This record gives sequence, C-alpha cells and structure tokens, in this order.
Amino acid sequence: MSFVVSARQRFEKKAAAWDERGQPDNLLETSDWALLQLRCWMVSDGAKKENRDKPFIPALDDFVQASGISMEARRSHWFEELLDSRESCKGCVEMYRVDNLTVCTSTNCRSLYCYGCVLNYRVGSFGNRRCDCGGELVG
Ligand SMILES: [Zn+2]
Ligand SMILES: [Zn+2]
Repeated sequence: MSFVVSARQRFEKKAAAWDERGQPDNLLETSDWALLQLRCWMVSDGAKKENRDKPFIPALDDFVQASGISMEARRSHWFEELLDSRESCKGCVEMYRVDNLTVCTSTNCRSLYCYGCVLNYRVGSFGNRRCDCGGELVG
C-alpha cells in the first residue's frame, strides 16, 4: 500500500506554513493551475464532506482568498482566461474549455477529463473520484 497525501493535507500544509510565518505574499500560491486545483477542490463534494467531518484550518480560506487577490493584481482576469482556454481530455483526447473539464489535484499529474470520461473513475476514500495517480478529480 502506498501512502497517498490527500489534497486536503497538501493544501492545508501550504496554508499553515503561510499563516505561521505571518501570511507573507511570497508564500501564497502563485501557480494559476495550482490555484485552479485548490479552488475546484474547495467546492468539491469530497472537500465539503471532509470540512463537515473535521473543519479545515481557518487559514485555508484566507490563503485561497489572498492567493487569488495576489494573482489578480499580477495578471487581471487570469482565472476567467484559464477557464476559457482549451485543453484536451486525457481520456478521449477531445478539446474542451477548461471550465468544462475535471482536473486532478495532484501537482505532478494535473490530468484533465471531460464529463464523460471522468465517469470511468470511482469515488475514492476522500469522497471525490480518484485519479490513476491517487489524486482527486475535481471541478
Ligand atoms: Zn473525454
Ligand atoms: Zn492524477
């Protein structure tokens, strides 16, 4: 059995490190894809369930907000542009708007699946569909 770091563990660790050091800008999330993964994960069924069972650390919400504001200051409309860009589904290779794709939360994987292909993946112990890599498919 390999140990899989859940999306929650990964995101909370980043938020906690940022919070413990006094919330400096240089520890905010600066990757557009990572922030997209984080935003999609926060509103996923799995994350909502986890938050009900054991509430997220308070810094997580602040971290997401502050990272978004900081990104917007550097590149306005980055999020809308990212959602509007087109990428291919890893399953059927068709092109879709990113907004219509499901993304894997794992940093190294970041696989994208369309609404049809994502159904080939079962819901895992974290409450979201589980990618081949062990990451969670969200969004
Ligand atoms: Zn597909
Ligand atoms: Zn993956």
